[in-house]
Amino acid sequence: MTRKLGGGSLVIATHNSGKLKEIGALLDPYGLKCISAGSLGLPEPAETGKTFVENALIKARAAAEASGIVALADDSGLSVDALGGRPGVYTADWAERQWFEGDAGRDWYMAMGKVEGMLQQLGPDIDRSAAFHCVLAIAWPDGEYAAYEGKCPGSLTWPPRGTLGFGYDPVFVPQGREQTFAEIDPEEKHAISHRADAFAKLVADQFGG
Ligand code: IMP
Repeated sequence: MTRKLGGGSLVIATHNSGKLKEIGALLDPYGLKCISAGSLGLPEPAETGKTFVENALIKARAAAEASGIVALADDSGLSVDALGGRPGVYTADWAERQWFEGDAGRDWYMAMGKVEGMLQQLGPDIDRSAAFHCVLAIAWPDGEYAAYEGKCPGSLTWPPRGTLGFGYDPVFVPQGREQTFAEIDPEEKHAISHRADAFAKLVADQFGG
C-alpha cells in the first residue's frame, strides 16, 4: 500500500508559476499547506530523465532531501503522435532561446511554431493527434515515493488561439472540444487536463476518493 500524506506542509517542487497556481488550486480542498520550492530557495535539479516519471521523481526527491519536508513534483509535456512522441520530456527545452544571450525566458510562440513546422513538413493530411502528459510524484525525505500518471488526449491546431493558460495551450484542442486550452475557462481546464487526471489518481490513492 502506498504511504499516505498526513496533514501539514508540502513542498511544491516547481519554479513554474503557471503550474504552481494550478497545483495549489487542485490541492486547496485537502488542507495541505503548500510551500513553493522557489520560496525556500531550493535549487532546480537537472531534468536528466528519459521519461516523465523519472523527471518528476528527480525533482520531488531533490526537494524532499534539501528541505526535509515531503515534496510533490510534476513533470509534464506534450507528445505529438506524428513526431514519434516528441517533444515529450523536452517540451520546455524546445522553447529555449539559446542564441539570445541574456534572455532567461522561454519563447512559447517559437516552440509552437517549431512543432507546427515539423508537422507541416510531413504533409497537409498528417495526423494532428497529440496528448498532454503529467506525472505527479511524491517523495518523502526518507526516500519513499509514489507516482501518478495522467493524460489529456487532443489535437493540434494552427495558428495559436486564446490568451489564457500557459505554454502550448493556444495550439492544443482537447478531445471533444473546439476551443483551445487557452480559450477554455481555467476552471474548466483544471477539470479535464492531464494534471487533473494525474491528480484524480493521486487523490483516490492518497485521500481515498
Ligand atoms: P516541465 O514539466 O517543467 O519539464 O515542463 C513541461 C512543459 O510542458 C511546460 O513548460 C509547458 O510548456 C508544457 N506544458 C505542460 N503542461 C501544460 C499545460 O497544461 N498547458 C500548456 N503547456 C503545458
